[in-house]
Amino acid sequence: MQCPVCHNKDSKVIDSRSIEEGIAIRRRRECEKCKFRFSTYEEVEILDLSVVKQDGRRENYIREKVENGLKRALEKRPVDQEAFKRLVSHVERDIQLKSKSASSKNNGTRREIETSKIGEIAIKYLKELDPVAYIRFASVYKSFKDIDSFKKELKKIS
Ligand SMILES: [Zn+2]
Repeated sequence: MQCPVCHNKDSKVIDSRSIEEGIAIRRRRECEKCKFRFSTYEEVEILDLSVVKQDGRRENYIREKVENGLKRALEKRPVDQEAFKRLVSHVERDIQLKSKSASSKNNGTRREIETSKIGEIAIKYLKELDPVAYIRFASVYKSFKDIDSFKKELKKIS
């Protein structure tokens, strides 16, 4: 099973479980090379991750939400499907690295991360990928403290 982040061919299976009454099997894997953890079931997904919103509420991590934010920033920008997939994988890997174990006793393996951190990670990779998308995304997430620092960033890319 190829690693979606570094494309290394070797991943080890951490565990397998039968879901939907045995119809499907989900395998949790870890890349031997970059240690990215993912599961295989129809598509690669991040498991057991909660997102902590600004008001403190938690919700399950949904890849689509992250993808939609990135897509909006990249609208009409020259970034192809492959590059976009790579971007999402890199963002998700960093989300895993920066997430921490949730303290709740009921869900042992559950991890969580703040939405602001996800924003920072996305900004970091967009900056490398496409300067216009980076500015768009960063302005939406209000990561600039004031209008001057925003202008400075604009100047850098123009
Ligand atoms: Zn890897």
